Amino acid sequence: MFFQKDIETMSRDDLKDLQLTRLTRTLADADGTDFYAKYFKDNKIDIKKITTLEHIKDLPFTTKQDLRTSYPDGMVAADKSEIVRIHASSGTTGKSTVIFYTQEDIDNWAIQVARALYSTGARKEDVFQNMMGYGLFTGGLGLHYGAEKLGCTVIPTSTGNSLKQIQMMMDFNSTMIHITPSYALHLIEIIKNEGYSHEDLPVKRAYFGAEPYSLETKEKLESLWGLKAYDCYGLSEMNGPGVATECEYQHGMHFTEDYYIPEIIDPETCEQLPDGEEGELVITHINRRAMPIIRYRTRDLTRIIPEPCQCGRTHRRIDRIKGRTDDMLIVGGVNVFPSQIESVLMQIPEVGNNYQIVLTRDGGLDKMLIKVELYSKLFSGELNELNRLNRHIVEKLRSLIVLNPKVEFLEPGTLPPSEGKAKRVIDTRQI
Ligand code: ADP
Ligand code: ZN
Repeated sequence: MFFQKDIETMSRDDLKDLQLTRLTRTLADADGTDFYAKYFKDNKIDIKKITTLEHIKDLPFTTKQDLRTSYPDGMVAADKSEIVRIHASSGTTGKSTVIFYTQEDIDNWAIQVARALYSTGARKEDVFQNMMGYGLFTGGLGLHYGAEKLGCTVIPTSTGNSLKQIQMMMDFNSTMIHITPSYALHLIEIIKNEGYSHEDLPVKRAYFGAEPYSLETKEKLESLWGLKAYDCYGLSEMNGPGVATECEYQHGMHFTEDYYIPEIIDPETCEQLPDGEEGELVITHINRRAMPIIRYRTRDLTRIIPEPCQCGRTHRRIDRIKGRTDDMLIVGGVNVFPSQIESVLMQIPEVGNNYQIVLTRDGGLDKMLIKVELYSKLFSGELNELNRLNRHIVEKLRSLIVLNPKVEFLEPGTLPPSEGKAKRVIDTRQI
């Protein structure tokens, strides 16, 4: 079942033709902006020579720094009077960047999201509670318009106010939610404290995105909430959520390839990598008129899944996001991603729903402390048991990351809860 069967199941050749036509139009639009006019000139690029999709590798990359340099409107291609909305990134890694949309761009984005939701089984009968931040962040309004386009009843609760979230969910029978995985972990605790079990909850589908999380977290959330979770990837530079989303098969996220050209590169050499190999995701937006962005370095690490999906969609899938190149921690010379630590923690049933990684330097040596909340019942347990559990976790972590971290147990609710994007790592080594 498809929302736009002709586009979703288009042959790869037709899809490539469409991409090339849209790329050509995008390059012409970009040439009209201050930033790209200079970028083409400085790099001696003749856009007329980009006549096949393979030529895309001749174009230089666009970085987050470029967006900051061209702030506020150096990349705007449309007439100012045509702009109907701006959004901004969350600013996880510095000053936020601003994105512009025409009415056509907003409509296209809504279709893109509606298509993604439909591919997971969502229909107009669904009630959709959107617990992502409304405002400059794209997670709120982006999914909101998409779900309305599909015809769902949308409840724009935004983030926080957990008791109200629960009340709305129960009173209006919310069948789908959009939420960060870290907030979903926190909210389910509150739901249980309110005396509900997951069987009481009307929610059948959750869209998780906006932050990296491990497969183990997804599985844990599915069982705690009693729902199916769909990974939903996006970034404001590329519209926002809906860039790639899991379909009903929940195995990799279909890239909206009629809107974007995805590439995977080696982040060191910047060379393109073949499908299947892991590297940095680079995206060219070929379906936005207000603000074309070419070969954007997302810094997100993933791979393109080469095999076709069982659902019949021809748009290729990407694997879950492992983290950002700049999330990688170097501890005592060892490279480790927070998501690797998370995947170990979430496999241990005694571990509760929140954790934090604290990095310090002591006499030139890096130290890693992992603060882990336990379920309350266990916390009041035998000291021997707790020591045994602590050794078990350290052992598991050590075999995966070669480091020797310290693990500290905390009562549930001790660590700051997350309502939006979680901040899991406290690194005091630079201070
Ligand atoms: P910022 O770059 O300031 O965080 P955004 O709000 O645009 O701005 O966030 C986009 C980023 O969020 C992505 O580049 C990615 O790192 C992360 N992200 C979004 N969706 C997912 C997802 N499903 N899985 C993992 N990470 C995600
Ligand atoms: Zn599929």
